[in-house]
Amino acid sequence: MMVDDLLVSFVATPSTAGVFLDFDGVLADITHTSNGAVVRPEVPALLLCLQARLGRVTIISGRPVDYLADMIPVEIDIVGLYGLEWRVGGVNHTLDEAEQWRDVVSDLTDAAIAEFGESVVEHKGLSLTVHYRGDSGRAESMGRWVDAQSARTGLEARSAKQSYELHPQISRDKGTALLELAESLDPVVFMGDDVGDLPAFDGLDVLASRGVSTLRIGVLSEESPPSLLERADHVVDGPEGAETFLRRVCDLVG
Ligand SMILES: [Mg+2]
Repeated sequence: MMVDDLLVSFVATPSTAGVFLDFDGVLADITHTSNGAVVRPEVPALLLCLQARLGRVTIISGRPVDYLADMIPVEIDIVGLYGLEWRVGGVNHTLDEAEQWRDVVSDLTDAAIAEFGESVVEHKGLSLTVHYRGDSGRAESMGRWVDAQSARTGLEARSAKQSYELHPQISRDKGTALLELAESLDPVVFMGDDVGDLPAFDGLDVLASRGVSTLRIGVLSEESPPSLLERADHVVDGPEGAETFLRRVCDLVG
């Protein structure tokens, strides 16, 4: 679907339209520290504007819900840790089968800090991220360490932007999260900037195969992977471009 067609269908049927958004690099400028991403100042009001008029506005992030909770108005639902936890209707939930991994992740976080130092290790409660930030030598050694820990603990290793993540082996990702929440929505848009967002594009493909109008928006950055941009129906320039898109939708449906 082209972006203008989508905007037309947003205006035609706002109450069944769904907007799903990644956080880092989309609603927040990318930072090169593990815990510095802060929502752009105008975004909360834009999200509320959309939420008031559209069927669903939801953030789907690799970050923990707790990280986002204070920055995102309570009216806006949040899926955190790629679907292991969520805040819906202002109430927090954790996936039961993820909870049993909390101690394993906590122990592994201590081991990662001992190996790589505190500044590059991000403990997310039910998952763990180690950041290599452009240091390709470190990327290799971290990758080996992550693979070894994955084999030892049963946690699943995943590549993310300038980082590796270790997750409970539960088949949840941004795509499954999107599909669970997109029921009866049409059209549906997802906006993301990272490899972790590709499953959300897969989710949109599933919806499209059911006849739902979908739009994959890629957010361009220095680091956005070609695999994401190639699959995007539309590309916007950085979080600023993402904000402009949201404002455009808000103005149209407002
Ligand atoms: Mg992102």
